[in-house]
Amino acid sequence: MDFHYSPKVQALQEKLKDFMEHHVLRANASWNRIADSGTYPLDIVEPLKAEAKKLGLWNLFLPALHDDEPGTRLTNLEYAPLAEIMGRIPWSPEVFNCNAPDTGNMELLHLFATPEQAEQWLTPLLDGRIRSSFAMTEPDVASSDATNIRTTIRRDGDDYVINGRKWFVTGASHPNCRFAIVLGSSSDDPQVARHQRHSMVIVPLNASGVEVVRNVPIMHHVAPEGHCEVVFSNVRVPVSNLLGKEGDGFAMAQARLGPGRVHHCMRTLGQCELALELMCDRAIERRAFSKHLSDFANVQDWIAHSRLEIDQARLLVLKAAWVLDQGGNQAGYVDVSGIKLVAAQLQTRVVDRAIQVFGAMGLTPDTPLSFLWTWGRAMRFLDGPDEVHLRTVARAELAKAKANPGSTRAWLTTQ
Ligand SMILES: Cc1cc2nc3c(=O)[nH]c(=O)nc-3n(C[C@H](O)[C@H](O)[C@H](O)COP(=O)(O)OP(=O)(O)OC[C@H]3O[C@@H](n4cnc5c(N)ncnc54)[C@H](O)[C@@H]3O)c2cc1C
Repeated sequence: MDFHYSPKVQALQEKLKDFMEHHVLRANASWNRIADSGTYPLDIVEPLKAEAKKLGLWNLFLPALHDDEPGTRLTNLEYAPLAEIMGRIPWSPEVFNCNAPDTGNMELLHLFATPEQAEQWLTPLLDGRIRSSFAMTEPDVASSDATNIRTTIRRDGDDYVINGRKWFVTGASHPNCRFAIVLGSSSDDPQVARHQRHSMVIVPLNASGVEVVRNVPIMHHVAPEGHCEVVFSNVRVPVSNLLGKEGDGFAMAQARLGPGRVHHCMRTLGQCELALELMCDRAIERRAFSKHLSDFANVQDWIAHSRLEIDQARLLVLKAAWVLDQGGNQAGYVDVSGIKLVAAQLQTRVVDRAIQVFGAMGLTPDTPLSFLWTWGRAMRFLDGPDEVHLRTVARAELAKAKANPGSTRAWLTTQ
């Protein structure tokens, strides 16, 4: 087992770190100032995208590109450490065309789009000319169980008609967002299996009947690209906008999430590393009761625990990325559930320690910590709440026991 990143990955890490430091970090304060005023900072992001593309730092996340598509063709394992570097500045993945939810949508389109759909929607996404969103979650039903989704997608002649209310549609306020992939119920026939009653359609955001009602704040943070509430009222799209087959929506939603969760987790690790660096830097500089904060045993414990927990989590995430590369998304679904839980819980824990070391300043926007804590809290819901992932891991473990019941009897002293 070799724990080194390959020379190819190390070279990309250096190139990406250099770009982050000399381009993205320098623009960070301006990006935040413009975003705080409620405008999407396109004027900052677009030139950076052009520069990143020129340098080959583009579509790093998508392993299975076709010959004529722009990108680097990295495996999940090769991309993971790059996602960690991008994670340090939460808006930076867009600069490299590696941001959610576009990454998941590009993967979906890659797998299931017809040639016409690919030309209309995938090609401009891969080029970074447009943005997209994914609309599954609904305010009225427990959406962690996707079979609950109520938005209807009904065939009427040569059209599908869509009715429903979605929320937390990430990216829907981005000025370049052109479409949403909408998951809805296409059948209420009780004879049809519950997991085959949903479909996905591509809905242009300028279609008649689509209304972006509001950008929902995440705690006190308003993302300029939006986590939006969107209403679909008698929206008509041609049947050619159906993605995959009718009834395959649930299976496609599962297929979409494997690599995307690895990306989220690695970005989380980047944010945890940043929090740890900030914590250490503050602790060696700040003095209280005639000592540096770093001389207090509890602060040392927080630092040590953070180091070890981050390293443990990284090993797990890299293993999950490797499993996806070796066996495909289905082979990795338990590993992916595991890392999603571990990384999400890690982020609030490590960032919370850093906030404590900073004193009240840790709560202000003068450090990135309050945003990073909020994002960590959000991570415990997005792409599925912790409890659903725990259930997946527990079921897999219990399945092993059920396959061989009584196998531990020899270990009991009461046999
Ligand atoms: C920042 C952010 C961005 C998001 N972006 C998107 C997006 O782009 N598109 C999109 O469609 N959605 C998005 N979401 C929504 C997210 O996917 C959902 O919030 C998530 O799937 C949970 O659904 P829910 O909120 O309806 O919670 P519910 O399904 O109502 O669950 C509530 C709680 O019930 C408990 N629970 C549920 N199932 C179980 C179980 N099996 N065992 C034990 N307890 C359980 C859990 O504690 C859970 O937190 C985003 C969310 C956030 C916070």
